[in-house]
Amino acid sequence: GDRTDTLLQTDGLVKRFGGFTATDDVDFGVAEGELRCLIGPNGAGKSTLLKLVTGTYEASEGHIYYDGHDITDLEPHERVQRGISMKFQVPSVYGDLSVRENARLPIQRFADGAERRERVDRAIEAAGLTGYEHVDASALSHGQQQQLEIGMAASLEPDLLLLDEPVAGLDVAEREAIAERVTRLNEEEGIAFVVIEHDTDFVASIADEVTVLHNGEIFLEGPIDEVKADPAVQRIYLGE
Ligand code: ADP
Ligand code: MG
Repeated sequence: GDRTDTLLQTDGLVKRFGGFTATDDVDFGVAEGELRCLIGPNGAGKSTLLKLVTGTYEASEGHIYYDGHDITDLEPHERVQRGISMKFQVPSVYGDLSVRENARLPIQRFADGAERRERVDRAIEAAGLTGYEHVDASALSHGQQQQLEIGMAASLEPDLLLLDEPVAGLDVAEREAIAERVTRLNEEEGIAFVVIEHDTDFVASIADEVTVLHNGEIFLEGPIDEVKADPAVQRIYLGE
């Protein structure tokens, strides 16, 4: 009896680190093809929630359902095979490898020959880096490195792509480039997204619905405009 209507659904999810509860009884759902943002103050438990979904962290209690199946006890690579891909907060492109060599890394175990070349091409295109194939990743701007990572994560052909603060430290133009990559992958490839981001202008530019986390719990969910205007949400950001 583990069917749900949503693509991703957590049920009473709890994560404890020693005596500290980082994820506290969270029921978080993402529909197929949805683009949802996850916001909340530092330490709210945003990264932890996504790491529970990828299997980077083991749940202390509760369940995670994906595509109708209980994946709570699956290994991270099994979750990737089922269609969950994540770009972590810490950048992970190899500076001394070219854009093309980096783009080959995620898929080299899954494809070879012409199929591999085609998927590498598509990853570079999804990253918006056509023409930069032979440039060392270290020569890219920080924003272009983030784009490359999004293209690499998308090359695994996920149904759900999790992005942890993809625009942190980027300027407005770089943020717009990332917003365009994410929006296109969502609209054209039908990839569902969960994007962690603080900047509500960026959030409003890509997503309709947001989930606010606070002290490891879901504090509020709803349209970004309503959430932004909510006095209680404004208070938690001020740390009151
Ligand atoms: P956010 O991404 O919303 O800023 P995190 O999910 O990174 O928050 O962290 C939530 C809380 O859990 C923080 O208080 C953090 O210190 C704690 N935490 C996260 N990961 C670990 C860990 N591996 N060990 C101990 N505490 C952790
Ligand atoms: Mg975080």
